[in-house]
This record gives sequence, structure tokens and C-alpha cells, in this order.
Amino acid sequence: MSESQKKGLAVGVTVIVGIILAYSLYANLGGERIPANTRQLKCSETNELFPLEMKPGLGHYPHVNPETGRRTLYPVEWCYNGECLAKGGTPVILNTQLGKEEPTYCPVCGHIVRFHNPGPARD
Ligand SMILES: [Zn+2]
Repeated sequence: MSESQKKGLAVGVTVIVGIILAYSLYANLGGERIPANTRQLKCSETNELFPLEMKPGLGHYPHVNPETGRRTLYPVEWCYNGECLAKGGTPVILNTQLGKEEPTYCPVCGHIVRFHNPGPARD
């Protein structure tokens, strides 16, 4: 390979890497074509729900409640048993998120709620 061929190859690789980096930046920083990845988080103190856009740099749960400034926002599982389904689901913070070992029961209907809790039954 001649010196000029090597240079050409290096330039080519640099351009390709640049394109990949630019695209991944664009994809991560939210071009409008990419739907926002939003999750509902629930405050363990006020029981309010907060839609939060997932983005890099948020760190670990719990996230900061923008109204209280305290780290009390947790991800939720939705209970769709009986009366909860009729209301469109009940958001429940799992005990494991709160550092408790006991199983989590829905405060509305009393059913057990697990990680990846089943969605509404489809029939
Ligand atoms: Zn329930």
C-alpha cells in the first residue's frame, strides 16, 4: 500500500467514524423523529405521578421530585386487577424499590404486584 493510499484510507475511516458519532449523538439527543422515551414515576411521599423523559445522566432511582427537591421518584408497576383495571390501572411502587423485602400489594385492590406485572388481560 502506498503512502497516499494509506492516507486515503485513514481519511475514509475518519469520515465514517464521524458520521456514526454524529448519528448516535443525533439519535440520543432527541431528533424529532424519535419519540421521547417517557416513563411515569411516582413520588413515594406525595403519591403524585410524574412523566419523566428518560435521558442519559439521570442517575439511579429514586429521582428528584421537581416539586419537593427530594429523591422520592420511583418507577411504578401497574395493577390491572378487577377494580384497578376498571380505573385504567393503579400505579404501585414495588417494595423492592424502597429497599423492603416483603411482597408488594396493590393499595387499592390488595392483589400482589410484581416486577413486570401482567398487563390487562386481553380476551
Ligand atoms: Zn390493584
